[in-house]
Amino acid sequence: MLSVLLNEISQLNKNDRTEVGKLIHQLDADNKVIPMIESSLDEKNHCPHCGGENYIKHGFAHGLQRYYCSACKKTFNTLTGTPLARLRHKDNWLEYLGTLCNSQTIRSAAQQVGISIPTSFRWRHRFLELISENRPEILTGIIEADETYFLYSEKGNKKVSEARPARKRGGKAKQRGLSKEHVCVLVARDRTGNTTDFMVGRGNISASSVEKYLEPSLDKDAFLISDKNHAYKKFSRENNVTHIGLKSGMPDKYNSAYHIQNINSYHSRLKGWMQRFNGVATKYLDHYLGWQRTLDQFKNLTPEQLLFSSVGVYQHLT
Ligand SMILES: [Zn+2]
Repeated sequence: MLSVLLNEISQLNKNDRTEVGKLIHQLDADNKVIPMIESSLDEKNHCPHCGGENYIKHGFAHGLQRYYCSACKKTFNTLTGTPLARLRHKDNWLEYLGTLCNSQTIRSAAQQVGISIPTSFRWRHRFLELISENRPEILTGIIEADETYFLYSEKGNKKVSEARPARKRGGKAKQRGLSKEHVCVLVARDRTGNTTDFMVGRGNISASSVEKYLEPSLDKDAFLISDKNHAYKKFSRENNVTHIGLKSGMPDKYNSAYHIQNINSYHSRLKGWMQRFNGVATKYLDHYLGWQRTLDQFKNLTPEQLLFSSVGVYQHLT
């Protein structure tokens, strides 16, 4: 049987051999991805509807084990309630996640995986939804904080782009300096490399946004270093956080450990990395921030790691 099959394959033309290769690849990919998805339930260990921990196996659906929860009487599988529920073609998922590891554009990912551009767009944001929420729980010791800005963009918002001409790619703000045309992103990084960031809104940063977004991530012994921006000073005073505001963001003259160079270089890596996407719609900016943050935190990131993150099973730096 096998020898007949192999003989027949050897006589196929190049295109048909490619098709056979694709089929084998798909079967291998299915065999690989489904057990990984299934194992993520071991980590979560509860019913996504009610949080109950008593459930039993209850048949199969969409290639996945289905469970029945004895508390709420509902069925679920390991993807229920995640952004990947009902996403099709699981055999392509790991290859698609590989395009995220390689920072590919939507178009290039679509070409490589053999899916349409709208599908590539939809998949990108389904996968990134939980990946982008994987932040370190706590920053400790010396913590550098600084904000960076992106132009507000409604790219991809059809109603608006029909109503008025889109800004040219990589456009410039109409007003000089900071304004409501800018979206403020607050970034903080401790000296172990743990990094967190938040889209805090339009225009200048304020003490109340530092409090809202950064305060929950600060260890009680945190030592905050920023530039002279008044927002950090006011926040630190009101929240009893030890703080140094460096003049012009330059390293302290007397203590070389007091600087914000790690955060400045993070900002430039982020900006450089974003350029390939030719301007990102503000409503998706947090996905891109989380994507870059994940790439920066986990060297040699694998599609398998990203698959777990995309269903909310996170690894952390230790
Ligand atoms: Zn339940």
